[in-house]
Amino acid sequence: MSKQQTPMIKQYLKIKAEYEEAFLFFRLGDFYELFFEDAVKAAKELEITLTARGKGEDKIPMCGVPYHACSGYITQLIEKGYKVAICEQTEDPAQAKGVVKREVVQLITPGTVMEGTTIQEKENNYLLSLSEFEGGQFGLAAADLTTGEVRVTCTESLYDVIHEAASYTPKEIVIPPAFPEERRKRISHILHVTFSEESSTASVGEMTRLVHNIEDEKHRLTVVRLLNYLYRTKKRSLDHLQPAAFYFAKDFMKLDVHSKRNLELTETIREKKKHGSLLWLLDKTVTAMGGRLLKQWIERPLLDKNQIENRLGFVEVLMDRFFEREELKENLRDVYDLERLSGKVSFGNVNARDLIQLKKSLERVPAIFETVHRLEHSYADQLMAGVDRCTELQQLLEKSLMNEPGISITEGGMIRDGYNSQLDEYRDAMKNGKSWIAALEQKERQETGIKSLKVGFNKVFGYYIEVTRANASSLPEGRYERKQTLSNAERFITPELKEKEALILEAEEKSGKLEYELFLSVREEVKGYIAKLQKLAKVISTFDVLQSFAEVSEDNHFTRPDLSSEGTVDIVDGRHPVVEKVIEQGDYVPNDIKLDERSGMLLITGPNMAGKSTYMRQLALCSVMMQIGCYVPASRATLPVFDQIFTRIGAADDLASGQSTFMVEMMETKHAVSKATDQSLILLDEIGRGTSTYDGMALAQAIMEYIHNEIGAKTLFSTHYHELTALESELDKLKNVHVSASEEDGEVVFLHKVVDGSADRSYGIYVAQLAELPEKLIERAKVILEELENTDNKEVLPEKVPVAAGILETESAPSSVNEDQGQLALFDSTLFKDEKKAEKRNRELSKKEKDVIKELESMDLLHVTPFEAIQAIHQLQQKLRK
Ligand code: ADP
Repeated sequence: MSKQQTPMIKQYLKIKAEYEEAFLFFRLGDFYELFFEDAVKAAKELEITLTARGKGEDKIPMCGVPYHACSGYITQLIEKGYKVAICEQTEDPAQAKGVVKREVVQLITPGTVMEGTTIQEKENNYLLSLSEFEGGQFGLAAADLTTGEVRVTCTESLYDVIHEAASYTPKEIVIPPAFPEERRKRISHILHVTFSEESSTASVGEMTRLVHNIEDEKHRLTVVRLLNYLYRTKKRSLDHLQPAAFYFAKDFMKLDVHSKRNLELTETIREKKKHGSLLWLLDKTVTAMGGRLLKQWIERPLLDKNQIENRLGFVEVLMDRFFEREELKENLRDVYDLERLSGKVSFGNVNARDLIQLKKSLERVPAIFETVHRLEHSYADQLMAGVDRCTELQQLLEKSLMNEPGISITEGGMIRDGYNSQLDEYRDAMKNGKSWIAALEQKERQETGIKSLKVGFNKVFGYYIEVTRANASSLPEGRYERKQTLSNAERFITPELKEKEALILEAEEKSGKLEYELFLSVREEVKGYIAKLQKLAKVISTFDVLQSFAEVSEDNHFTRPDLSSEGTVDIVDGRHPVVEKVIEQGDYVPNDIKLDERSGMLLITGPNMAGKSTYMRQLALCSVMMQIGCYVPASRATLPVFDQIFTRIGAADDLASGQSTFMVEMMETKHAVSKATDQSLILLDEIGRGTSTYDGMALAQAIMEYIHNEIGAKTLFSTHYHELTALESELDKLKNVHVSASEEDGEVVFLHKVVDGSADRSYGIYVAQLAELPEKLIERAKVILEELENTDNKEVLPEKVPVAAGILETESAPSSVNEDQGQLALFDSTLFKDEKKAEKRNRELSKKEKDVIKELESMDLLHVTPFEAIQAIHQLQQKLRK
C-alpha cells in the first residue's frame, strides 16, 4: 500500500477498521465503491469488473455498484453469508469543506436483512443469540426483525441448545466474544450460520421496554445481547420489536435436527425443498402470516393435551361448516402481511399503497371475527377476546388516504379531499387557476380568431400561449409578450397568465409538501397501532392455519385422532400422508399400527423396498400432525402425546458434514437411547447395516434390549437380520411384524401390507433385479445364496441359539466397515471370509496404509472433540479408499 493516501482513502480506512467483518459499501456520488481486499473479493463474488483507483504505486483495487441498483448485489452477498456495511455521505457535497463527511448508516447481515429475495413470504428470518452459563446451561434468544417477534428460552446442554436453535433455521447467531471456538465448530457442523460477536449486555433505552417482563437474569442477558447487536447494526429505533416472550423448550415435543430431517417435516432430505415435505402437504394457508405460523407449529408440536384438543376441536367445526370455512378463507385472502407491515412502518419504509393494503385488510377483520363467532367455538372465541380490531385505524386510513395513491410519498396524490382544509384550499386554488386557464384559451381563440391557439405548460417556461408561425402575423401588435420561438410556432405570455401561474405553482408546491407532512403524520399514528396489529396478526394467522388443516384433512380424508392417556397407539388403515399424495391415486396400501403396554416394540422385517421405512414414518408423522392440531391420515386413530420422537431412518447420510454413515447412525442412536423416556417414540431403521454382519447384528440386538428393558419407549425397529426375530420369545413387549411380498412367476410383488410374524426372506436379489443389474451377476448371486442357505448359513447364522450368542462371535468375525451396504457386508463376511483373511495376512502394507497407521498413532485423543475425532477418522477412511 502506498504511503501517499488521499484524504478520502484515509477516511475509508478509518471507517473500514470499524467494520472489518463486512464489505464496506462506500458512497461516492452515484456509486457505492469497494476498495482493497473488499474490492477483490466482491468483484469475484458478484462477478463485476475489478478496476483500480490512482496510478503506479498508489494504485488500489476498486470496484463499484450503482447506488440505485445496489439491493440485488447486497442480497447476493448476504445470501452467501456475508455482511455489508452501508456508508453514506452525511453532508451535502456542495457544502463540504474538504472530504465529504461519511458514516455507516446500517450494517446488513444475514440475520438482520429486511427486504430482498432473502426474505421469503412464508418464512421467518430469525437472528439468534446464545449465552453459556455455569453448569452447562445455555440461553437462547431469537428475533425476527421483519415481524418484530422476540423469544427467549434456556436449555440444559449444548446438544439441546443446538437442536433448539436449529428449529429456527437461523442464518446468523450472535455470541459473546469469548465463546469457545470448539463450540462454534460444533454448531457449524449442524447449522450453516454466520457468527457475529456482541459484547454488550447492558440494557439501555428502548431495550428496557423489551425485557421488562423477563425476570431471570440469564434470560434477560441473552435477549439484551441480541438487542444490542440489532441496535448497533440497524442504528435506528425499532418500534415494532415486541417484548421478549419466554418459553420452556420442554413444553413442546422434542425433535432433534436429525429426526426433523429424516421425517422431512419442512423440507426433503435430498433436495432440501419444501415440495414433498409435511409442510408442503399441510400448507393451504392463504396469508403469508399463516404460512409462517404453520412452519413454526410444525417445528414445535404441542405437549399440552388441552391445547391439542382445542385446535382439533376447531378444525372439526371448520370441517363441519363448509360455508363458513369458505367465507373465512375468502376474507383471509384479502389480509395483507400485518406482521411485516408493522416492521416496515417502524423502519419508515411504508408508502401510501402499503397503508391502503392495511386498510383493506382491516376492512376484512369484522367479517372474519363475525364468521368465526358464528361457529360458536369457545377456543376461537377466547382467541378473539380482547383483541383490538383496529377499527379506528381503519377509519383513519379511510378518511385520510385516496384509494389508489401513487408509489412515491413526495409527489402528492395520496391524501383524500376533505381530510385537511388547508390542503383543500390549495387544491381549490390549483383547480380554479386551471379552469381560469382553460377559459383563457377559449377567450383568446375567439378574440383572435385563431382556432389552433392553445395554452400549454412546461417546466422551464411555465404556462404560455402557443400560436403557429403561420398565424402569428395575424395577432394584433402588443397583444402578448413573446417568450420563445420554435421552428413552426411562437410562444407568448401575458402578465395575467403569469400571475395565475404563480398562484397555481405555489399551491402545487405547498400542497405537495403538505401532503407529505400529512402522510408522515398518518404513518406516525399507524406506529401507535403496531402492538395491536401484531396481536391481531397472531389471531388471524392462527385461524388461517386451522382452516388450512380443515381443508387438507377434508381433501385427503384424514380423521380426528383420539388422545390416549394410557400410551396406546391404535391406528387403523394408517397412511403416510406425503407418499400417499405422490404415488398414483389409490395405490397406497393402508396399514394398521398397534402399540400398547403389552407390546410396545415392533420388530419389522421384510424385503427391501417393501415399505418398512414408510410404515415407520407414518406413525411419526401421524403423531406430529396430531400434536400440532391436525387430523391424521387413517380411518381411525388413537395416539398418545409423545414427548420426543427419535429417528434413525434411511441411508441419506451426512457425508457433506464430514461424518461417515455408520458414525451418524451410531450418534443418532446414542441420542435416542440417552434421551428417550417411556413417553417417547423411537424409530430405528436398519440399525447396524453400516458395519459387518456380526457387529451389526450384535449392536442391533443390544440396542433393542436396552430400549426394551431400560427405557420402555414405544419403538419401531426394522431390520434385515432375520435372526433378531427370535428375540420375540425373550423380550415380552416385542412383537414381530413383517411387510409382505409374494412371488408370482418368479417375480416379486411388494404388497406393502404389514402383517404379524416375521418375513421368511429378504428378496434383496429381486430388488437388484428390479434395479436391472446384469443378469449374469443376478444369476451368480442366486447360486451363492443357495449355497449359503444350504451350508454356511448354519455356521454363520445359528438357528434356535439365543440370538445374543451372535454377539460372542463378533471377535472372530471380520469387522470390515462397509458404507451402508448391509447386504454386501453379508457376502463379505461369509463367502469370502477365509480368502480375505489369507489375502490380508499375505499382503505387505501399502504406503498409504502405513501413512494412515502413522497418523493414527500420532493422534492426540485427549485434546480433540468427538466431532474432530469423527472427522479425522473419516479422512483416514477416505485416504484408504482412494
Ligand atoms: P423399505 O424401507 O422397506 O426399503 P420404503 O419404505 O422405503 O421401503 O418403501 C419403498 C417404496 O415403496 C416407497 O417409496 C413407496 O413408493 C412404496 N411404498 C411404501 N409403502 C407403501 C404402501 N403402504 N403403499 C404403497 N406404496 C408403498
